[in-house]
Amino acid sequence: MLFEVLRSTIRGLIDRVRYRTLSREELDRILSDTLLELVAADVAYEVAESIVESVRGSLVGVRVERGSDVGQLVVNTLRSRLLELVDRGSIDIVGAVRAKCSRGEPYVIVFFGVNGVGKTTTIAKVAYMLKANGVTPVLAAADTFRAGAQEQLEVHASKLGVPIIKGRYGSDPASVAHDAIEYARARRLCAVLVDTAGRMHVDYDLMGEMRKIVRVSKPDLRVLVVDALTGGDAVEQARRFNEEVGVDAVIVAKVDADVKGGSIISVTSVTGKPVIYLGVGQGYEDLKPFNPVEHVDTILGLKH
Ligand code: GDP
Repeated sequence: MLFEVLRSTIRGLIDRVRYRTLSREELDRILSDTLLELVAADVAYEVAESIVESVRGSLVGVRVERGSDVGQLVVNTLRSRLLELVDRGSIDIVGAVRAKCSRGEPYVIVFFGVNGVGKTTTIAKVAYMLKANGVTPVLAAADTFRAGAQEQLEVHASKLGVPIIKGRYGSDPASVAHDAIEYARARRLCAVLVDTAGRMHVDYDLMGEMRKIVRVSKPDLRVLVVDALTGGDAVEQARRFNEEVGVDAVIVAKVDADVKGGSIISVTSVTGKPVIYLGVGQGYEDLKPFNPVEHVDTILGLKH
């Protein structure tokens, strides 16, 4: 089941504190078990600590009256803490695209992400979503090193019926982004979606290349795509891209296969940046706007 490890951790915590008055030692033991379980559910350690401490804070010193509902107290505490962690605002991409387009300029989104996370598929999904809203984007295949990357994006472009600008093998990725923006301007297209390289080799300066693409294309939005199934790696990538290039928003892919559940909380907590969409399958329509309240209620078992 989706997010099962995280959900059962939270359920277990609520059940263990619910029905009786706990000694300090018992509470300590329960909370330290919970901390480890949260980490096993892909919640970053410092984030797991902050969740556990909020529960401790709400329970310590509370006089438990006979018949009072401690479970409800813990649920309320967790609900507000988790919401603080995942609700980092939202971005209305379609609205922003339309606003910029009405000023005669294309809205530029650059997508970052390590190979394999689902970046190309996500770009295709965003292109599909824009088209469904009456906006035809142009794709920029700015990973000029990996031949497969250009072909893969081209397949999507032709299925979706949207134009694509490619570069010669080995050409400057920033110039491909630049050409795509010029193409959009000349044809009055409202959005440019820039695909970028994602190889993580020690001898290759990925972050330098990303900074150059950003410098040249001056994007309206820098989107990082991470893979929900990679847990700690997703958090590390988010931290690194945010520090070295700057990230405005995150899309978490492969959420449909995520049984652990902690990646989303961790990525938003560590970067402070909003998750705007979730990838929930391999089809073009499998892109779901992220709803923080719905997400937290799912984790708490308040929504199925
Ligand atoms: P890239 O290397 O980051 O561009 O990754 P791709 O877009 O090629 O995706 C890698 C694999 O993940 C492909 O098999 C995709 O179909 C799959 N994928 C991407 N997004 C999702 C998603 O949201 N859910 C699922 N189940 N698979 C996905």
